[in-house]
Amino acid sequence: MAYQHQFSDGTRFEHSLGKVVCVGRNYAEHAKELNNPVPTTPILFIKPATTVTPLADAVILPEGKGDTHYETELTILIGKPLTRANAGEVSDAIAGYGLALDLTLRDLQSELKKKGHPWEIAKSFDGACPLSRFVKPNQIKDPSNIEFTLKIDGEVRQQGHTNEMITAVTPLLEYISQHFTLMPGDVVLTGTPAGVGVLASGAKLDAQLESVLRIETI
Ligand code: ZN
Repeated sequence: MAYQHQFSDGTRFEHSLGKVVCVGRNYAEHAKELNNPVPTTPILFIKPATTVTPLADAVILPEGKGDTHYETELTILIGKPLTRANAGEVSDAIAGYGLALDLTLRDLQSELKKKGHPWEIAKSFDGACPLSRFVKPNQIKDPSNIEFTLKIDGEVRQQGHTNEMITAVTPLLEYISQHFTLMPGDVVLTGTPAGVGVLASGAKLDAQLESVLRIETI
């Protein structure tokens, strides 16, 4: 069955998934752990819709392509078209908050970066974006002041606080919409905090957004 956005209360979102827009290096500590310079403007890239699978399912890793890293990211569900939007229009267009893993073939990405090539194939394989269900915007008081955690096999591996983002949610969506239109059903991954690492096949994941959303893989 094709992927369909769902809310934590079990209701479905009326729009289908379009594109997955991601931002690289939006937390300084993560940029440093990979020896990347800290950017002054957001670095954007897009994962196709075929990367998305429900986070609650077991994650299937590509074989024979080197290490796959997990990156846990606060994810925004877009509810209205955004083109050259201002802050008010952005707030009005947020339909939900969730969590996603921006799975990355790190060895392959490093090779591509060394050559100065786009890293598309390291980020866009089928299943490269396990995505949670979403909580409604009224469940999140302030998106610039929330915490999320990823535990792997019971151990905390990533703990992010959105007040550490280099570009916060609202200016990030404004920035994206200056370059291309966000449509209802699109999702935006807002970058990963420090603590990324190799995801082993069969690892049990437990992702939590404040006390409002918790996803454990089977
Ligand atoms: Zn990422």
